[in-house]
Amino acid sequence: MSKCQCVICGKWFDESEMIDEYCLDCYVEAPKDDPQKQKLKDFLQTELTRAEKLILVFYYYDEMTFREIAATLNLSEKRVAQMHSYIISRAKVFTDGTEGKDKFY
Ligand SMILES: [Zn+2]
Repeated sequence: MSKCQCVICGKWFDESEMIDEYCLDCYVEAPKDDPQKQKLKDFLQTELTRAEKLILVFYYYDEMTFREIAATLNLSEKRVAQMHSYIISRAKVFTDGTEGKDKFY
């Protein structure tokens, strides 16, 4: 498996974990004036597995299709779609701050 070096932190990662010349962590850390990105960053750092992070970043920032993401991560397209909808349902709870139980009141 080929390895790539992140231009920011200098660590080596699998090619599938790189976004352009950055590792995922450095890519997410890159400063941008977008409150949505800040919320997403919090969510990424606290709630998700590494594969789940990659799906979100590829989909929203690189605008890749599920098919392209599936090929990159060596997963089926169906699996990526399932993981994506599961991530989104959790992201909504996280970014809205709403808990299911609150809806009863
Ligand atoms: Zn890095």
